[in-house]
Amino acid sequence: MSIDLYKVPVGQVVGVKGKKLEELHALGISSVGQLLDYYPFRYEDYTLRDLTQVKDGDKVTVKGQIVGIPQVQMYGRTKSRMLCKVLVDTWFVTAVWFNRHFLKDKLTSGAEIVLTGKWDQKRQHITVTESEFPGQGASQTGTLQPVYSISGAFTQKWFRQTMKQALLQFGEMIPEVLPAELLYKYELLPRKAAVKLLHMPGNMEQGQRARCRMVFEELFLFQLKMQAYRAINHKRADGVAHPVDLPAVRAFVRSLPFTLTDSQKKVIAEILHDLQQPYCMNRLLQGDVGAGKTVVAAVALFAVVKAGYQGALMVPTEILAEQHKRSLDRLFEPYGIQTALLTGSLPARGRRDVLGAMQMGLVDIVVGTHALIQEDVFFRALGLVVTDEQHRFGVNQRSVLRRKGMNPDVLTMTATPIPRTLAITAFGDLDVSTLRELPKGRKPIQTYAVPHSMLERVLGFINREVESGRQAYVICPLIEESEKLDVQNAIDIHAQLQFAFPSYRVGLLHGRMSPGEKDEVMREFSEGRVHVLVSTTVIEVGVDVPNSTLMVVYDADRFGLSQLHQLRGRVGRGEHQSYCVLIADPKSEVGKERMKAMTETNDGFEIARRDLELRGPGDFFGTKQSGVPDFRLADMVTDFEVMEQARDDAAEIVRRPEFWTGAAYVPLRSFLQREHIFESEMLD
Ligand code: ADP
Ligand code: MG
Repeated sequence: MSIDLYKVPVGQVVGVKGKKLEELHALGISSVGQLLDYYPFRYEDYTLRDLTQVKDGDKVTVKGQIVGIPQVQMYGRTKSRMLCKVLVDTWFVTAVWFNRHFLKDKLTSGAEIVLTGKWDQKRQHITVTESEFPGQGASQTGTLQPVYSISGAFTQKWFRQTMKQALLQFGEMIPEVLPAELLYKYELLPRKAAVKLLHMPGNMEQGQRARCRMVFEELFLFQLKMQAYRAINHKRADGVAHPVDLPAVRAFVRSLPFTLTDSQKKVIAEILHDLQQPYCMNRLLQGDVGAGKTVVAAVALFAVVKAGYQGALMVPTEILAEQHKRSLDRLFEPYGIQTALLTGSLPARGRRDVLGAMQMGLVDIVVGTHALIQEDVFFRALGLVVTDEQHRFGVNQRSVLRRKGMNPDVLTMTATPIPRTLAITAFGDLDVSTLRELPKGRKPIQTYAVPHSMLERVLGFINREVESGRQAYVICPLIEESEKLDVQNAIDIHAQLQFAFPSYRVGLLHGRMSPGEKDEVMREFSEGRVHVLVSTTVIEVGVDVPNSTLMVVYDADRFGLSQLHQLRGRVGRGEHQSYCVLIADPKSEVGKERMKAMTETNDGFEIARRDLELRGPGDFFGTKQSGVPDFRLADMVTDFEVMEQARDDAAEIVRRPEFWTGAAYVPLRSFLQREHIFESEMLD
C-alpha cells in the first residue's frame, strides 16, 4: 500500500519546524505532497561560461584567480564598492562588489574564485551577485538552481535545501497519477522522475522534459475534472425532459420578422435537443455582438412555455431588462404568453403582485435582473433560466435554484467571444454553442481613430447622421476611482453637445440616475425622440437600437479592447451603414495598439484574440469568478495545443465505463475526490 503524501504533514520533513512550519502553512503548504508540488518558476544558471562566448549584459558564471589586492571605497557607514582584479583564462577582468566589503579578507591574491554576475564587456567588469571559493563547502557551480516564488522569512537557499531534504525522504514514494497509456503515448517522464528534475534539473534540457510532463499532467487533470463534472451531471438525470412541441416551435420561428441565420438554426436545434433530455442543460451560447442571441433565447423560452413550464431571463442591468421585456412581448403577444418584469426598482406592491402571479403560474416568463431568482422568489414550475451578457452568471445561480428545489435548464449567453480554442478551458464544464455569422445584409462598421483636436469634425459627423434621420451614441469613460468625476464628465459633455446642436435632443444617461430616469431616456432614444445619447459605459452591453449608426467614444484609449468592441456593437444593427469614431490620445502606447486592432477588424473573435495577447489570460478573463484556473506551470495561451490534446484524452477516458470503477483509474479518481467532484454541491 502506498502512502498518500498529501496526508503526510510537511513537518515530517527534517528541518521543518517552528516558524518555518507556520510560514509554509501560510503559503498553503501543509503536506509533503503540497510541498513537492510547489514548483520553481525559473532556474538560476551557474554553468561555467567562456567569456569570449558571452554577450555584453549577460549574466555569467566564471572561474578565475585573484590577482591583486581588493580596493574598497566606503560611502557612509554601510555602503561600499569593492574592486578586485581576477584572471579568467587569459583575461584580466575587474570584479565589482557593492556593499560586500566584509568579503575583503577572503580575497587573497592567487586564490581561486567563482564569480556570478553581470558582464560589462566594454569595461571588462563583472558586477558580482554571488561568489564562491572552490573547495570550501557546498558548491553550486556548474548547476542549475531552482528559484521559487517565496518571500518574507524564507531564503531561496533554505527552500532549496528543504526541497532536497523532502525529496530525499519522500521522493521514492511519489506515486504516478497518469494512466500508463498516456505516458507511453506522449513519451512522458514518470511523475517521480519529473518532480525530482523540476526541483533539481541537471541541465536545461532535463528541466524542460520535466516541465513538459508536468504541464501535460496539470492540463489533463484540469480537463478531467471538467469532463467528470459534465458526465456526472448528465448521469444524474434529475432535470426536466421537456416535451417540446416542434410544430408549434416551427410556426413561431416562421412568424418572426426575419429569417434565422443558419447559425441560429443550428444553435436552436442544439438547445431544443438538450431541453428534451432528462439531464439539466448547462449550455453557453457565445456569439459576436449583434449576432442575434436574443431571438435564440426567445425560441428556447417559447418551447419551454409550450411544454408547460415557466422561463426566466436574467440580465445585468434594468435597462436591458426593460428592452428584453419589450421585444419578447412583441414576439409572444399573438400566442397569449404572459411576461412580467421583476427588477429592484419595482414598488413593493407591484413586486408582490408579480411574485404572486409567478407562484400561481399566471406568468409564463419573467424578465429581470439577478435579484429575480435570489430572494423570496418562487416559481410554480421553472423550466429554463436564460442569463444574458454575463460570464458564468448561470453557474453561481444554479446552486441558489437547487437549494430551492428547482432544477431548471440553464442557458448562459455571452457576447465576449472567447477564441474557440480557449472556450474549452474557460468553459470546459459547459456545452458551448457558437453563433458564427451575423444576420445577412449587415454592412461592416467603419471605424476611425482620431485625436481630440479633430473634435469639430466629429461634431460635423454627428450632425450629418442625425440630419439624415439616424441617431448617435457618445460615450464618456468610466473612471474607476471616481464615479462622481465620471458623471460630471458626462454632464459636461452633454451640455457641450446640446449647445452645439440646439435643434436636436441630446439625452444623458449615467449610473447615478434613478432607474425611472434611465428608463425614460432609453425609451425616448429607442423611439427616436432623442437624437444623440451621451452616456457612460452603462449602455455597454446588450442595448439594441437599430436606427443608431454612429458610436463616438471619448478617451477611447482608456477602454479595453473587448469593451471597445462591445461599445461598437451598439451600432451596425440595422440596414444602414454605421460608423465608430474613437477619440484617442495618439501618444498613449496601449491606446495605439488597441486603436490599430479596432480599425483593422470588426471580428469579435479576432479582437478577443488580440485582447488576450495584449492583456494576458489572467486579466482577460477577469476575476476568479470566470472559472479559469491559475495554472502552476501551464500557460493557457502558449500550451494551448497540449490543452486540446489533454481535453480529448480526458473526454475519452471519462467515457469508458471502467473509469468509474476500474483499479487502473484509482489515482485519477482519488484526484477527483480531493477536488470534491463527487460531492453534489460542487456541481453547482
Ligand atoms: P446580440 O447577439 O448582440 O444580443 P441581438 O439579439 O440584440 O444581438 O440582435 C441584434 C439585432 O439583430 C436585433 O435588432 C435583432 O432583432 C436582429 N436580428 C436577430 N436575428 C436576425 C436575423 N436572423 N436576421 C435579421 N435580423 C436579426
Ligand atoms: Mg444581447
